[in-house]
Amino acid sequence: DEAIIDEFRKEHQLTLTGVDIPKPVLKFSSSQWPAQITSVFQSKGFEKPTAIQAQGWPMALTGRNVVGIAQTGSGKTLSFILPAILHILGQPPLQRGDGPIALVLAPTRELACQIQEVAQEYGRVMDIRNSCLYGGASKGPQIGELQRTPQIVIATPGRLLDILQMGKTTLRRVTYLVLDEADRMLDMGFEQDLRKILAQIRPDRQLLMWSAT
Ligand code: ADP
Ligand code: MG
Repeated sequence: DEAIIDEFRKEHQLTLTGVDIPKPVLKFSSSQWPAQITSVFQSKGFEKPTAIQAQGWPMALTGRNVVGIAQTGSGKTLSFILPAILHILGQPPLQRGDGPIALVLAPTRELACQIQEVAQEYGRVMDIRNSCLYGGASKGPQIGELQRTPQIVIATPGRLLDILQMGKTTLRRVTYLVLDEADRMLDMGFEQDLRKILAQIRPDRQLLMWSAT
C-alpha cells in the first residue's frame, strides 16, 4: 500500500509539503464521488484521475487549504470543482437572497467560461447551479442569473466587485474559495481587487489556489 503510493508519487513527480497529507486516490472506484458523477466520467471516457486529481481531491475533501501547481492540461479544474460540489452538499441550503457557497475567481472571461462548462456538466447531475460573471458583456443577464441563487459563482475579479458594489450579491455564505491561475491573476494586476474580495469573505473559509508551472 505505502509502496504503491510512493511509486505513484515518484512516477508523477509529485512534490508535497504539509503535514498529514492524505494518500492519493488512484482509481475512480476508490474515490468518494457519487454514482451520478462517476457516470459523467464514464460518458467522457475518463479512465482514472490525473495525478493532481488523485492527490488533490483527498486534500481538498479534508477541508484543508491547498496550493496546487501543475502543468496546463493536467486536470486542475475537476481538482477543485468536484470537492466544491461535495462541500456545497454538506452546507445548509441557500435561502433566497443568499450569495454563493463556492466562489471561483479566474483571470479572464475565456477561462471563467471554461470553468463554468465543467461546473455545469458535473453540477447538473447533482442539482448544483452556477453562474459566471465577467466583463465585456452586459451586467443585466448576469445579475438575473444571480437571482436563481447559484451555489457556485465563477467570476473575474473586476466584474465581481462591480456586482458586489451594486448590492446584487454578497459573499457572506462563501466557505469554499478558489483562485484559479492565481499567478496569472497577480501578473495581470488583480492584487488589489483580490484583496477587496477576500476582505468580504469569512476568514475560516477553505482556500484553494491553483497555478500552472
Ligand atoms: P488544467 O486546468 O490543468 O489546464 P483542465 O482542467 O482544463 O486542465 O483539463 C484539461 C483536459 O483534461 C480537459 O479536456 C478535461 O476534460 C480533461 N480531463 C480532466 N480530468 C481528466 C481525467 N481524469 N482523465 C482524462 N481527461 C481528463
Ligand atoms: Mg486550468
